[in-house]
Order: sequence, then structure tokens, then C-alpha cells
Amino acid sequence: MNIHITKVAKSRIEELNTDDLQFGKQYSDHMLICDFEDGEWKQPVIVPYGDITMSPATTFIHYGQSLFEGIKAYKRKDGEINIFRPRDNWERFNMSARRMAMAEVPEELFMEGMRQLIELDSNWVPDVEGSSLYIRPFMFGTDAFIGVKPADNFRFMIITSPAGAYYNKPTRIYVQNKYVRAFPGGIGFTKAAGNYGACMLPTLETRKLGYDQILWTDGFTHKNVQEIGTMNVFFVFGNTVVTPDLSEGTILAGVTRDSVIKLLQEKGIAVEERAISIDEIEENYKNGQLKEAFGAGTAAVIAPISELFYNGDTMLLPPMDTWEISNYIKKELADIRYGNIEDTHKWMYKVC
Ligand SMILES: *Cc1c(COP(=O)(O)O)cnc(C)c1O
Repeated sequence: MNIHITKVAKSRIEELNTDDLQFGKQYSDHMLICDFEDGEWKQPVIVPYGDITMSPATTFIHYGQSLFEGIKAYKRKDGEINIFRPRDNWERFNMSARRMAMAEVPEELFMEGMRQLIELDSNWVPDVEGSSLYIRPFMFGTDAFIGVKPADNFRFMIITSPAGAYYNKPTRIYVQNKYVRAFPGGIGFTKAAGNYGACMLPTLETRKLGYDQILWTDGFTHKNVQEIGTMNVFFVFGNTVVTPDLSEGTILAGVTRDSVIKLLQEKGIAVEERAISIDEIEENYKNGQLKEAFGAGTAAVIAPISELFYNGDTMLLPPMDTWEISNYIKKELADIRYGNIEDTHKWMYKVC
């Protein structure tokens, strides 16, 4: 694929404070842009990172045809850079695009565009174990038209941002029984911008109450759990790991979620994907069988839950240092990503 590359006159890498990599604060030197116009993808370009301009009538600003992905690249001790399962993100990106009536991005544009961008900015991938380069592909409708209709023109972009080792502070979770994130027939299974916009107010209110994240429940009964914040959720009941199934279309099919399930099954640990009600969680808690609970996603990888608040009751999880299953998963994923063990699943996609 022919990508036209315009390099920066001078890299900003010296301004990068590697001791304090705060998420999303600093962006690498370059970005990728590709426009979909007249029914086809034009030539992709890689240009210096910077502002973009657009008409105030640009359709996505008004009607929300906008979606994104979140992926990470890792640098090994020997300097090799690999991206974790990016093809799965490409498939999910296009699944989101279909639901939002947007153009699908060709595999080569997504994969090779990303690879070349990261190869060019390879010195922006931090090499401390636990750190990574966060990759943000996104797409939005660009028609300069405020009539309500699906856009005909789109822009696909990729920007990247160095991310430090994520400290997995135990999270206090508020089980939501008023607001709803997703319902059957909606867009809960997509990574559409609107899903995030709708969650801002409930999250703000939850923070004011002193909790870190929301555990979303279904909109009909507020009993069946869906996700925590922007992560998939797992519970360990006795020796069995349970996570909500994806059949209703209300849950985003996380790449981390899928990796956790596969690694656990290979280890011989029972994993059940099924409906989980808050009543079942409380019952297990009362019987001393609620052993571990955690969120799983690209940003935090594994986010342990220290407490769950539901309808006036607090469930306290056992101390985290006793958590065998989540600690095993965390280490296994890190070892695969930094090349400490063999990548038997072919999950790592080589950049350079
Ligand atoms: C991105 C996201 C996840 C996690 O998906 P990963 O592929 O594991 O990063 C989970 N839930 C929601 C709502 C998300 O947007």
C-alpha cells in the first residue's frame, strides 16, 4: 500500500517526560489520515501530528457518526515492537461501522497504515516493562451538511500516545440501578462515541458518591450485570470464573475479555459466559464464595474490584494478594506482550 509520508522537521521526542507518562497527555510526532470520498478510500497520508480543520456543519458533530478503537504496542527488551491482536480491533471497528451506517475500513489500510505509523514513531514506544504505546484509530462522518442522513464521506485517522505502567488501584464499584448504558437493539456492542457521551453524567454522579466506576445493569430489571465503566467484568465464584455473555448485544466484545477467557480455559480453569444477576453475586458473597472480581480492558488490562455497593449494601472482596486467578492472568498477558514467553496464539503483530 502506498502511503504518502511527510515527516516532522524536528521530532518532539525530547519534550517527552518518560518518568511521568500520563495517559493521553502527549502524542507522538505523526498521525495517519485517510478520507473516504465519492464511494472510495483515497490515498492515505502520514503527516506531523496537529490540528485538523472542518466545517461547523460537519455531520458527526451534530449527529454522532463517530467511532474509535483502543490498541497497544509493546517494546521488548531486544527492541522489537509488537502490537497486541490489532486484527481483532480491525474486525470490531468495521462491525461498529456497519451498525453506525459508516464506511468500512479495508484491512490493509487499518493494519499496514498502523504498522507504518508506529515504525516511523518507533522511538515513542516506551521500553519500560508495563508501559506501551496507546494507539487510537477513529473515524467520523465529514459531510458538511446538517440535514439528518447517513454521511457519504468519512475520515479515518490514527493517533498514538505513550502510556506508562498502569497502577492497578483496587476500584470501588457502584452498581447502577437508575441509568442504563445499553439495551438490546441499541449500540452497546459498538465502540461508538455516543456510548461514552451518555455515560459521563452517571459516572460523574458515581464519583461524587465516592465510587470509582459503575457496574452497569440491564435496563429492564436492573439485575443482570453488563460491564464496569468501559471494561468487561469477571467474577470468581468458588473455582469458577463467570462473565456476562454477549448474546444481547449490550456488551462490547473486548479483546482483553477474549484473551482472558482463552488463557483461563487453557489453564484448565472453568469459565462460564452467561447471564449473571446481582442476586447471584450477593448470594455468593454471603456464602464466602465471591473470591475475586475484576474489570478487563486494553487501558488497565486487569482492574481489581475491592468493593461493590448495591442498593445500600456493601460487598467487600477478600485482600487482593490472595487472588490467584487475576494475578495469573495479569502476569501471563504481560509475559506474552513483552516476549518473555512464547506467543503460542500468534497474538503479537510485528511492527519492526
Ligand atoms: C473498549 C471497551 C472495552 C474493552 O475492550 P478491549 O478490547 O479489551 O480494550 C470494554 N467495554 C467497553 C464499553 C469498551 O468501550
